[in-house]
Amino acid sequence: MPHALVLNATYEPLCVVPDRRALVLVLSRKAVAVADTGSVVHSVRRVVTVPAVVRLNRYVKVVHRGPVPLTRRAVFARDGGRCVYCTAPATSLDHVVPRSRGGLHVWENVVSACHRCNRIKGDRTISDLGWRLRVVPRPPSGPAWRILGTGRSDPRWVPFLAPFGAAHLYAPADASASA
Ligand SMILES: [Zn+2]
Repeated sequence: MPHALVLNATYEPLCVVPDRRALVLVLSRKAVAVADTGSVVHSVRRVVTVPAVVRLNRYVKVVHRGPVPLTRRAVFARDGGRCVYCTAPATSLDHVVPRSRGGLHVWENVVSACHRCNRIKGDRTISDLGWRLRVVPRPPSGPAWRILGTGRSDPRWVPFLAPFGAAHLYAPADASASA
């Protein structure tokens, strides 16, 4: 089912909902569409465009923000879809300190890696191999990460997510080396 991005009145990304739910928000005047999918729904009286992104008319106070969930998609997004060891396209997750050696499944120890590096590394640490991390892995911050972590994405959401902690989404995939 297609989904829509919901923004707070301040444009801060809030959540992802089924697009029919976003349409109801717009029709009930709780939100306005700021990007459309281009597809339409025919009702008895009119034709309405299904929104890709909506912005709430009234500000919703976000009370609780827990840590960003550690998912494969979110790790790939943080690491630019590239292997942190050799910059080849990432195909798997790697524990920098292997779990067999006490490494934890936390943002600071999980990185995206290519199949080759992951297999070579095995149960060894990077100091065993003389490898270096291009960047020190950290937990991502910013509201955009809540959206990226849901596993749903849409190119039309990118301009709305980029200012909120996902600026790298604007960068071409092979621009990381020159950045
Ligand atoms: Zn690699």
